[in-house]
Amino acid sequence: MAQNIKVLIAGAGPVGLTLANELVRYGISVRIVDKAAARTDKSKALVLWSRTLELFDHAGYVNGFLPAGMPAHGAIISTGKEVIARISLDGIDSVYPYALMIPQSDTERVLEERLAKHGVTVERNVALESFVDQGAQVQSVLRKTTGESETLTTDWLIGCDGAHSAVRHGLGFTFDGTTQPSDWYLADGHITGLDPQDRLHIFWHKEGILAFFPISEGRWRVVADLGPAPDNAHHADPTLEEIQSLLTKRGSGGLVIKDAYWLAAFRINERKVSQYSRGRAFLAGDAAHIHSPAGGQGMNTGMQDAFNLAWKLSLVIGGVAKPSLLDSYSVERSAVGDQVLSNAGHMTEVAIVRNPIAQGLRNAVVKFAFGFPQLGHAAANTLAELDIGYPDSPLTVKGAHHSKETKAGKRWPDRLPPDTSQARFTAIGPADAVAGLAAKFPRLVQAAPTTDKLDSQNLLLVRPDGYVGFAGSASDRAGAEAYLLALATP
Ligand SMILES: Cc1cc2nc3c(=O)[nH]c(=O)nc-3n(C[C@H](O)[C@H](O)[C@H](O)COP(=O)(O)OP(=O)(O)OC[C@H]3O[C@@H](n4cnc5c(N)ncnc54)[C@H](O)[C@@H]3O)c2cc1C
Repeated sequence: MAQNIKVLIAGAGPVGLTLANELVRYGISVRIVDKAAARTDKSKALVLWSRTLELFDHAGYVNGFLPAGMPAHGAIISTGKEVIARISLDGIDSVYPYALMIPQSDTERVLEERLAKHGVTVERNVALESFVDQGAQVQSVLRKTTGESETLTTDWLIGCDGAHSAVRHGLGFTFDGTTQPSDWYLADGHITGLDPQDRLHIFWHKEGILAFFPISEGRWRVVADLGPAPDNAHHADPTLEEIQSLLTKRGSGGLVIKDAYWLAAFRINERKVSQYSRGRAFLAGDAAHIHSPAGGQGMNTGMQDAFNLAWKLSLVIGGVAKPSLLDSYSVERSAVGDQVLSNAGHMTEVAIVRNPIAQGLRNAVVKFAFGFPQLGHAAANTLAELDIGYPDSPLTVKGAHHSKETKAGKRWPDRLPPDTSQARFTAIGPADAVAGLAAKFPRLVQAAPTTDKLDSQNLLLVRPDGYVGFAGSASDRAGAEAYLLALATP
């Protein structure tokens, strides 16, 4: 008899694969379908930022990515003649103080191989065609490219099906935003003349931006803006000669591209849904938000959507937490999506300024500002996604008189004890208090030994995704219990 599948995931891009891995880690049965015949062979999203690496670390499978990638330690912004700013990731407060440069094709391969080890295979050439939320379950129609269809009933449906999401369409959600009226070129190939190789190199040339992202020894991604587009027609993909001509004109001199795996023209879309779920259907990744590639945040934001949703779903499916826990997903991730869209939009606007006076002003202001180390540090934290938090979430509760350093809603900076098979909050604080909480809520709480960074005046509940949910004073056990009682099933 067929297993009762709890979750159907539509889309096996990096976000659907992350979600599937997280759910199977928690013992939840999933099916994951993708309408494409094979996973991408393109480098697309190139960066795994520190925060994403921390989350994979806690989940127990970061080691799959590390040997396949190359650490990048910062970025250099220059005019080609003069350095305007240097951003270093070396000083950021993470066990991964770098960006791991890894082609999306490899990221997907690592995730798919790990999923297969758990006995789950991506069902390819299978599209989610439609679905009906019946209240107690969701009925989905899947169609194979051969034409056969299947009706599948699951408890939950998650749309990780990218920018043209069928789940989003089925929910009737609008994807509000704009398509920027300017064209961009992209090339992925072997380039000589760039040094150092472990940095992003960004040239703010008077005719437009030219940015280089290291992929592996000698291999780089190049992105260049071409300025306002004459019409809505798709721009032809570039030739190698056109890319070389941009390198010669806008670079620091002596840059040569030898060959290319991928040459493409693209436009930037900035769009987002206003809510990420309704009833038993959820959206994650590009299905919910797309934006400028500036800052390389798109895939990372989507993966972090998946981490956020997975622990909540697993606790609800396991009967440990009330279904209302799931309401926090949209609130939390939509706020992060707004922030990421806004940051990426600003980065792009600054980079593509064309008026020479505005360019001069921009260069002077940025050079001055980055003279202050704090600003470079703040920029590095934002890029690494370490400053993401949930200050306004319904899951964020400030108890009695906690110390200022450990604010509820913030990322917990230290490694947590692993929760390889069960999502649980980590109680940190006086030994008797945390042991008491773990004993009273064994399926929801694990107790952690205190760490150096811990202010012993606090009692904290750190969520399974590493954010402080509750922060109270050491004696506020009643506050912590009230927090957990509000989440737990009776
Ligand atoms: C040219 C290019 C360059 C990029 N560069 C960067 C970058 O440098 N940094 C960055 O962060 N991001 C970049 N991105 C964006 C990044 O690739 C996306 O943010 C990321 O792929 C989103 O992952 P996802 O899993 O949400 O969606 P996708 O990767 O789009 O995956 C969605 C999957 O769903 C499948 N699917 C669609 N409809 C259905 C259906 N009805 N049923 C079943 N399956 C379906 C698709 O086949 C696909 O496999 C780039 C994208 C492009 C196109």
